[in-house]
Amino acid sequence: MDLQRMHGPIKKELENSVLGIIDKGNFILGKQVEDFEKNFAKYCGVKYGAGVSTGTDALELILRGFDIGEGDEVIVPANTFIATATAVSSSGAKPIFADAKYEDGNINPKKIERKISRKTKAIIPVHLYGNPVDMDEILEITARYNLRVIEDACQAHGAKYMGERIGSLGDAAAFSFYPGKNLGGFGDGGAIVSNDEILIEKIKKLRNYGQTEKYFHDFFAFNKRLDTIQAAVLDVKLKYLDEWNESRRNSAKKLNEGLSGLVKVPNIETIKNPVFHLYVIRAKTENERDRLKDFLQKKDIQTGLHYPRPIHLQKAYSNLGLKNGDYPVTEELCNKGLSLPMFPYMKDEEINYIIDSVKEFYS
Ligand SMILES: *Cc1c(COP(=O)(O)O)cnc(C)c1O
Repeated sequence: MDLQRMHGPIKKELENSVLGIIDKGNFILGKQVEDFEKNFAKYCGVKYGAGVSTGTDALELILRGFDIGEGDEVIVPANTFIATATAVSSSGAKPIFADAKYEDGNINPKKIERKISRKTKAIIPVHLYGNPVDMDEILEITARYNLRVIEDACQAHGAKYMGERIGSLGDAAAFSFYPGKNLGGFGDGGAIVSNDEILIEKIKKLRNYGQTEKYFHDFFAFNKRLDTIQAAVLDVKLKYLDEWNESRRNSAKKLNEGLSGLVKVPNIETIKNPVFHLYVIRAKTENERDRLKDFLQKKDIQTGLHYPRPIHLQKAYSNLGLKNGDYPVTEELCNKGLSLPMFPYMKDEEINYIIDSVKEFYS
């Protein structure tokens, strides 16, 4: 991934946004944080936003904002980045995993219902790789069981589901602005967006020591704020997000054309507008995937595994007592998936080089 291709053309604009803050010195909760919160919420098609320290913290603060914690259960995909689950654990609640759908790797709505218990309070669908979850099916279940829907949109800034922005489909959504995300800062950052004004007001206190006025603290809380400098950078970059996502989508379409038939390529459904945070193909076997990875590495094509080991088999979650075979689709996806290069403004010659190299491997 080459961040320079995004930052190079707008470097002056980015510099000016940061320099203004150095002059002013309003590093914590400056006006730029509020501006960005408004602009980002509007972009997502919702009323309110709150800037926070990371995407992981965004998820945790939503849970705490909804009073979900000790004694509660939250359903999360087995196939996701570990932060989705650790945010639940940090809130005091227990993550309950549901297996993936083979076609797109997202949580399988059909596997959710059997995971619901009397303790279940919420579901966190993750729009993995920037590809929207089948939200209709999720919302049908959550309405029937009266559960909260918290979107983990940390890989899906700007994606759409049936014409609606990701982030506007549940009760609240969490975004990460880690530098490598589709919208990334110059360091860590995160945000919550929601139409629930009470939730957002509470989160703004939770992120700031539970303060209602300076040095008066109404409840146990945290320091999980978004820096003014990060907010200013993100506000500049937000203007270009749609263009960057369009560029990713075009590259993905070209890769799809060149690679289908050789490997399983991401399916682009007509009701979804994915943003290709990652472009993940699947080989037929783990061995084939590993050999393809080595082959591409020798050709200077960097690839990644997202993710090499499912959460339920991580040592960090050994306390849950889960074992190999418990989430077979997730395990299969971890073994066969390979992420190819994907970022805005990939050149045709780069895309063709990737396609030709994969072809060479299979010839
Ligand atoms: C990146 C990511 C997170 C965590 O975001 P941070 O800002 O790194 O804390 C959570 N969930 C998913 C799906 C992610 O990709």
